[in-house]
Amino acid sequence: MKRYKAYCFDLDGTVYRGNEGIETAVRFIHRLQEEGVEYYFITNNSSKTPTQLQSALAKINIEAPTSRIYSSAITTAKYISQHYKNAIVHVIGSDGLKEALVEENIALTDDLNADVVVMGIDQTVDYMKLAKATVAVQNGATLIGTNKDIKFPSEFGFLPGNGSFVELVANVGNTDPIYVGKPSPVMLEVIQEEYGYDKEDMVLIGDNYDTDILCGIQFGCDTIHVNTGVTSTEQVLKKEIQPTYCLEDLSEI
Ligand SMILES: [Mg+2]
Repeated sequence: MKRYKAYCFDLDGTVYRGNEGIETAVRFIHRLQEEGVEYYFITNNSSKTPTQLQSALAKINIEAPTSRIYSSAITTAKYISQHYKNAIVHVIGSDGLKEALVEENIALTDDLNADVVVMGIDQTVDYMKLAKATVAVQNGATLIGTNKDIKFPSEFGFLPGNGSFVELVANVGNTDPIYVGKPSPVMLEVIQEEYGYDKEDMVLIGDNYDTDILCGIQFGCDTIHVNTGVTSTEQVLKKEIQPTYCLEDLSEI
């Protein structure tokens, strides 16, 4: 297999399952670290901060600096600072998302004349917040969502995900939102921009065809599907566009 300069890993189902590390992935990452090859972790999870994700990795024996961990919240903040210089941002979302924006020195406002409206999951969202976001978008703000998930499973059944609220604001504001989470290619674009890689230098490794693999395909880099999580190899083989490599697990590299 070709050797890449930057290995971008999904987390859940690729590096760990819940609290348990996937041994073959952990060994592969140790090997990259020993050889001084660059690695990044990219996850649609925006509820955990990079520090929390760092400690989840530490529990499975992977020591990684937070600078290598790209949650959809962190990546949203970096994307705005790369593409909307000096933008004033109106935000609906968790404290984690707001902190990520402030960390990138992005100015936040409650004002309805913002340059960008950012939406992440907010469990205290109400009519007024959504109404304000729709007005800000009609006033010309770009609408950016951390992730597109319409729903997520819970013990009660499915509950509304961030994408449900973003679509609502987009419909009223008559705009097409930009999504940062996979399968959008934005997370890989942000890493490429920050570190100056060529697409040929990068590879995306993930278990979920519809998020991970499509993210890599849309970005235009090589992809490795591992049969350790959501999408089985059997299901992947039926897809029209195939990943560059289909592996049982990362011991095959
Ligand atoms: Mg996954």
